[in-house]
Amino acid sequence: MSPAPSKDPAAVETEVREKIHLEILKRTGAYHSNDHILLPSGHHTSEYIEKTLVTTEPSFTEGLGAVIAKHFAPWPVDAVLSTGPAALILSHCVARAHPSRPVLVYGTKGLSGGKRRVSLPVEFQRLIRAGTHVLLIEDLVSSGTTLNLLISLVEQLGAHVVGVGCLWRRTSVEFDDKPVFSLVSRDFPTYSPEDCPYCRKGVPLNDEFVRRRAHRRPSSVQESRPA
Ligand SMILES: [Zn+2]
Repeated sequence: MSPAPSKDPAAVETEVREKIHLEILKRTGAYHSNDHILLPSGHHTSEYIEKTLVTTEPSFTEGLGAVIAKHFAPWPVDAVLSTGPAALILSHCVARAHPSRPVLVYGTKGLSGGKRRVSLPVEFQRLIRAGTHVLLIEDLVSSGTTLNLLISLVEQLGAHVVGVGCLWRRTSVEFDDKPVFSLVSRDFPTYSPEDCPYCRKGVPLNDEFVRRRAHRRPSSVQESRPA
């Protein structure tokens, strides 16, 4: 009998790495799996990530940021560019751990004439210019639109995109020839209720995440003095 074909060691390493990172995300409470979950779109899925919880454990975030920094360590990086304030905590951890000691900046997102746009705050514009080596960081990448816009912006300024680092991306997302490093590359299959295999099996539907959005208001206080 011939031995079973062994897996490519690089593929095994990636698989193990992804498993470890999924466990870390699970421990923050951000990653839910093996469930039957109602999405805001009305579709059903078995996995879900609560984005706001992803970076709530500082030591985990530091560790994950260091892994991304280590991957890009062979390349000089002058600036780490966060896709926005939301990914700034992770971006900080990457910048802190990269041997080039890059500066850290972020883009801002907005809409203009119904189209998405990104811009760089005026204060940061002297930090990204012709010849600057820029590493882009995002937490979760689903469509990649923001990152593609930021890549165009960086290139318009004459700067060079070293690559894109993120915690999680859908496997289908690519950025032309730019190197992408994600701690986890994974797709969530989503189903319409009619085609959902979990509905067919009679698994109870968890609508917690949709209810939470609809009914729970954020905790807030207001200044009591009259303006
Ligand atoms: Zn279902």
